[in-house]
Amino acid sequence: MSIRPHLGETLTRQEIADNFADLHPPFSPTQAMAEAARCLYCYDAPCVKACPTAIDIPGFIHRIRSGNLDGSAKTILSANIMGGTCGRACPTEVLCEQACVLNGRDDQPVKIGQLQRHAVEHLIESGAGHPFRRAPPTGRRLAVIGAGPAGLSFAHRAAMLGHGVTVFEAKPKPGGLNEYGLAAYKMAEDFAQKEVAFLLGIGGIVIEYGKALGPALTLDALRQRFDGVFIGAGLGGVNRLGVPGEELARDALDFIAELRQAKDKSAVKIGHDVIVIGGGNTAIDAAVQARRLGARNVTLVYRRGAEAMSATGWEQDLARTNGVVVKLWSAPVKFEPGRASFAKTRLNGKFETTDETYSLPADMILLAIGQKLDAAPLAGLKLDGNKLWVNANYQTSLPGIFAGGDCIKAGEDLTVQAVEDGKRAAHAADAWLKGR
Ligand code: SF4
Repeated sequence: MSIRPHLGETLTRQEIADNFADLHPPFSPTQAMAEAARCLYCYDAPCVKACPTAIDIPGFIHRIRSGNLDGSAKTILSANIMGGTCGRACPTEVLCEQACVLNGRDDQPVKIGQLQRHAVEHLIESGAGHPFRRAPPTGRRLAVIGAGPAGLSFAHRAAMLGHGVTVFEAKPKPGGLNEYGLAAYKMAEDFAQKEVAFLLGIGGIVIEYGKALGPALTLDALRQRFDGVFIGAGLGGVNRLGVPGEELARDALDFIAELRQAKDKSAVKIGHDVIVIGGGNTAIDAAVQARRLGARNVTLVYRRGAEAMSATGWEQDLARTNGVVVKLWSAPVKFEPGRASFAKTRLNGKFETTDETYSLPADMILLAIGQKLDAAPLAGLKLDGNKLWVNANYQTSLPGIFAGGDCIKAGEDLTVQAVEDGKRAAHAADAWLKGR
């Protein structure tokens, strides 16, 4: 990695390209075999319980060990059709790998994510074809809003169950946050698009691009045209800080999307003194990428302590090892051209800002303070707080309209959870269609 802080140098195009290469190079076959041999193939394995999609982890690792890579991939994909992205980008350190029993033996956990990636990418790159077959056509047609992880997972499972699926996607490419919202070094070699092409190999799925819910595509119209609808629209609205000068700041996800779509990342503009506001993985992705683009100073500012950050400890360490300065217990109070001002915060029975202030030079400010549901085109559907209400079967308050992914969950939003939502919702929609 080429990072030269404080020298005022500009990185070359090649250095920037190198900085955005795969963060975790894939296992070689020998490395994968050696890592698979470390697994104890636990009965009632805790790693499986910690996986939101309940992948049979000892089962797929055992198949790697016995040389059956395609069988291993099929085990993974039967539970999680986006097992490739999850192998690269899941916070395994707080999910399956945290639960691995080897942690309790003063050993490193099995590198489950990298083994998963090894098996799935082998299958995708082998050209062996799609591993699942569709059930006989049911004659039923389902509409899906959003070609992100939840929508595509729903579409794949619904197609497998024999339904015809049309996906409506606002952007020009599929993948949702996998394509537009994750750091480039996590999704190198255009993997999000390769994974979608593989997923569509099931057949029976059509994607229409440039189409979002709104006056030209209403829920009512979709209910009339289709037998059922799944909403996997994610969170389209941006939270606001409400401080003077906020218009000088940019949404961190916009910055990440620009980087992901740039053919030449050296052409993406970056400040010398970059401030990132937020404490989640998006904030870390923005801050680390700003450094890797050549920003001289990158400061991540969070209003509480490190333990309250939703970014995992591993992500926080990644930021620090990339030269990002993390300032805790600080809340923005004002942005001006070239400068950002903050007040120190504290917990004093309740969270409060203090009179102690400071300012930092800032020629680029990125806001990673979360997104919110764009509820306007979803009028008529019951809300649960600031997200869509669904029952235990992912059905919204209107019969035949299901929802899943970030638009229904509170708290940390993960690709793996969205995939699980889409899969379960497809089975629920299938049962609803059969019972109608
Ligand atoms: Fe293997 Fe660890 Fe899972 Fe046990 S907990 S099955 S050792 S990965």
